[in-house]
Amino acid sequence: MKSPTNSPIAENLLWYALVAGLALVLALLALLQYRSTRLVSDATTEHLRSSLQDSLMDLRQGVGQELKPLCSEFQLDAGIPRNSASQEYIHRLERWRRTAAHPGLIAEVLVARSLDADEPELLGLNENLHRATPAKWTRELVPLRAWMRKSLLQSLGYAGATATLDATDSTAPRPTSASSATHPISPWLIDESIPALVHAEIETDRDAKGKTVASIAWIVMRLDLRVLGRKVLPELVQRNFGRESESAYRIAVISLGESTGPIYSSDGSFQGSDLISDASVNLFGRPEFLNREKRPPADPPSGTGAKIPLPLSYDPAGSRTQILKSDEDGPVHIDPIHYGDNDPNWHILAQHRQGSVEAAVASSYHRSLAINFGVLFLLGITMTLIIANSRRSRRLAQLQVDFVAGVSHELRTPLTGIVAAAQNIADGVVDDKPRIARYGNAILTQAQQLTDLVEQILLFSATQKNAHRYHLQLVDVQTILDGCIKTSSTLTKPAGISVQRTIQPALPQILVDPKALSQCLQNLITNAVKYSGASRWIGLEAATAADPMRGSEVTIAVEDRGLGMQPEELLHIFKPFYRSPEVTAAQIHGNGLGLPLTKSMVEAMGGRLTVSSRPKEGSRFTIHLPIPRNGSQPSPAPLSAGNANS
Ligand code: ADP
Repeated sequence: MKSPTNSPIAENLLWYALVAGLALVLALLALLQYRSTRLVSDATTEHLRSSLQDSLMDLRQGVGQELKPLCSEFQLDAGIPRNSASQEYIHRLERWRRTAAHPGLIAEVLVARSLDADEPELLGLNENLHRATPAKWTRELVPLRAWMRKSLLQSLGYAGATATLDATDSTAPRPTSASSATHPISPWLIDESIPALVHAEIETDRDAKGKTVASIAWIVMRLDLRVLGRKVLPELVQRNFGRESESAYRIAVISLGESTGPIYSSDGSFQGSDLISDASVNLFGRPEFLNREKRPPADPPSGTGAKIPLPLSYDPAGSRTQILKSDEDGPVHIDPIHYGDNDPNWHILAQHRQGSVEAAVASSYHRSLAINFGVLFLLGITMTLIIANSRRSRRLAQLQVDFVAGVSHELRTPLTGIVAAAQNIADGVVDDKPRIARYGNAILTQAQQLTDLVEQILLFSATQKNAHRYHLQLVDVQTILDGCIKTSSTLTKPAGISVQRTIQPALPQILVDPKALSQCLQNLITNAVKYSGASRWIGLEAATAADPMRGSEVTIAVEDRGLGMQPEELLHIFKPFYRSPEVTAAQIHGNGLGLPLTKSMVEAMGGRLTVSSRPKEGSRFTIHLPIPRNGSQPSPAPLSAGNANS
């Protein structure tokens, strides 16, 4: 019996509202998830780009740090006596080479003097001979020579290449206020076409009158590109980006200009020549990237007694940032010398291995979106399952309540009959023998009904636990059917129901448990009688049929022309304890176990149970059983553990 408190429509509406509400929450979550994932990926792109830029800056500074000891060795002195200058330079160079991480980085050091003269002097510092030897102005040095000459003339402001120093100080001029440790050095420059570091030194000499005159000497340090590209840069890249093979980025240092070419590449496939990169920065120059807090004072301390030569294209405002004190922690800053628009310009390029930072972030964005939506999808499925399960549990609980009510009702009817008949006998109301016998029979019939009911419940319980044992044997369908018709005559006869039996001649034997099959047919016949309505007819039909999937089979159909069922009821009638609302309302006795029991027993014998029904027209239940091939045993559906085949 259904609880009258909640109407099924109201309950269904409640469930639908709950499902719609949860779906809405899920959709909202999905939207939030989508938006936050996008925000996170945008922030990640931003972060990756800026940290990549930082790493490039670190790499750039690393190059400056690498050159710093060399620059410190050659920091501007207030004036080196010219006659001992070359030895002094060689001495400095040797000192640097002894402690340098990559002493081979400087391939050759040249000293250029007398640049205003017609034949400027060029000397090579020979570390082996410990003296300077004349060198040639080779082709790549010619533009530098012209630049140095112009730069010198402009910086000194007059045609002479020498400046007269303070005559009162006859010794070499020294800094007057600052200690030598804080003494400024002149800017460091690089000619990226040679390539060579370029730096000016002040040398002093005595003129004919014995006065000290200062002149400028240019130190040109030729860089070894192989040491730079194969040792210095790989180490710096590894320090800033991790191992080349494991790094998320490919790094290249290229020379841009008339002829573009790689100086270094962390990955052979990335030459940077197409200039497609996630970040790039000049290797030299770009003073705006220097840490402003650590900038030296705007003007160099005075008192050197000589002007610091400034390169021709050097911006005097920017030059302030170029001057480095020897006690500063920062890397030395080196500016490229500009000759024209097609100057080579060294750049560091970085590209993400997935093509670009955007591509890498997009792929992780799509991945996390898929994971998030997957989780939401699973959540949706789980929620649906929970709702479905909870609905099922409620339905099951309702069915069980109905079952208990139905069984109680089933028990009460025969018990009432038994009690009444027994009471009459006990009270002596019935004293003649024939009536006592009639009462006894009534008690027996009712008790038999009780026994059948209990048996059915026990059998159902056994089939549910797979504990029922089947004894399969070859039997005649006709024999079984006749037995069932005879047994059910106690039902059909009093109800005035005619039973029509149609059996196809020469039916093959089937391999079944005869008792179980009889029980199944009995259940179907009982239902046909119970639900036959006003019609007083039931039909039994046995025949052979050929199923395209299963082969030949014997079908035994039990048909009635009674109440019939709605199509949606057919989905439930094989579920335990289900009874249609119509039959419950009509108080037709039953417990909802007959059909589930019949179905599981038929399937355990390798067959199946089908139904066709139309409301108010009747129903037809058919048991399909396979015909054993050549009398051999058919292959039944998996039998329960307790099944025994004969
Ligand atoms: P019971 O008959 O004890 O209620 P069953 O499991 O045998 O339990 O049947 C389940 C339900 O299927 C019945 O309550 C009834 O609603 C429906 N049903 C079964 N057989 C028929 C039939 N021949 N005609 C109409 N409805 C039927």
